[in-house]
Amino acid sequence: MKVKVLGAAKKVGCSGFLLTSSGQSLLLDYGIETNREMIYPLHVRPKEISALLTTHSHLDHIGAEPLLYIDKNIKHYATKPTIQVSEVLLNDLLKISGSKLPFTQSEVRSLIDNSNAVRYNEPFKVGDFRVTFLDAGHIPGSAMIYIEEGDKKVLYTGDMNHLDTRLVRPAVKEISGDLDLVITESTYAHGDHKDRLDEERKFIEYSREIVEGGGTLLVPAFAVSRAQEIAEIYYELEFNDEIYMDGMALKINEIYLNNPDFIRDPEMLRSSLSKITFIKDWRDRRKIVKRKASIISPAGMLSGGASTFYNERISGDDKNGIAIVSYQVEGTPGREMLDNRMIWIRGRRAKIKARLEQFEFSSHSGRTQLLDFFKGISGSPRVLTIHGEPESCAGLANDLNGMGMKAVAPSLGDEVEI
Ligand SMILES: [Zn+2]
Repeated sequence: MKVKVLGAAKKVGCSGFLLTSSGQSLLLDYGIETNREMIYPLHVRPKEISALLTTHSHLDHIGAEPLLYIDKNIKHYATKPTIQVSEVLLNDLLKISGSKLPFTQSEVRSLIDNSNAVRYNEPFKVGDFRVTFLDAGHIPGSAMIYIEEGDKKVLYTGDMNHLDTRLVRPAVKEISGDLDLVITESTYAHGDHKDRLDEERKFIEYSREIVEGGGTLLVPAFAVSRAQEIAEIYYELEFNDEIYMDGMALKINEIYLNNPDFIRDPEMLRSSLSKITFIKDWRDRRKIVKRKASIISPAGMLSGGASTFYNERISGDDKNGIAIVSYQVEGTPGREMLDNRMIWIRGRRAKIKARLEQFEFSSHSGRTQLLDFFKGISGSPRVLTIHGEPESCAGLANDLNGMGMKAVAPSLGDEVEI
């Protein structure tokens, strides 16, 4: 059995791994990177793929999948929320960057038509592979993929979170059997998270300070998962000022409410969303940007979407505020804002006068959770540490080697045989 690294080598973006054994191949995720330019994982010939398995519906895991469906039908397996959210995100991607993409709506349709909904903990066969999806605790419907073939056992973690969050249950903590290979994410392997409840309280306090001080608060948040979690934090910690939500979150909200098994507390989600006013058009946007309110809006890294508009309007006034609530990838406007307090407004670089705070509501396991997870893994598997900045991937590999595993942060195109 061998694995080829098609992407996410020493970086976050373009996840893709090709697992081959006895002439059959499983493709695990096939994502893109959408920062400054569109970046794709290494090419793989669709006719070589026996099935496509998707861990979760973030673009860095699904964005290149339609490419495989240009003139081929490949069986696709994912959870129901992953399939439904993927359809929304990929069609939205086409709307925003259609001219730059090498596929159209018809390939997205084909991907969705070839999709089979998988449930957690229910093994199924693809050729000689026995595949089980396990709850990864990252976003609703996210999965780790456990693959058995002959006497070999492989685990691909996708993105995982072992911490308790309001929206989803934590990731599975124990994996049975001696593993031969683990492909693990390393996003937050460099450190530990701050106490989540503390962060939630600080976030509420900051939100109140801004809004009750007469300002507008912008919370740039991805429509998938983070926007809903922020809504739940506002609800449970009793933030009673006006809240607005913008972007495609509305569609995602519906999908999550229709898949209650994948949500930790569906009733709580429903109640939280009922307190929020949804923005429908530019007239609404221009009106609410002057209100004493909190606005939850994509994109989470300020790389487009309505959050760019709100940011331009509010960042010049010191009574307003911005709350960064997700990981800011290097090279994004959100990262630039955190590092230098600067933003681009219509081609000009401008200093931010509004207050700016970052809160850590990570949906990835931190260092301690990652190491605890590996302490529970039996055998001395080969480990590929991927999906993190270079020092995180290398650091995690180092820690795991210290625990008697054979870990390495692979480079793009590397092949590992087990
Ligand atoms: Zn993810």
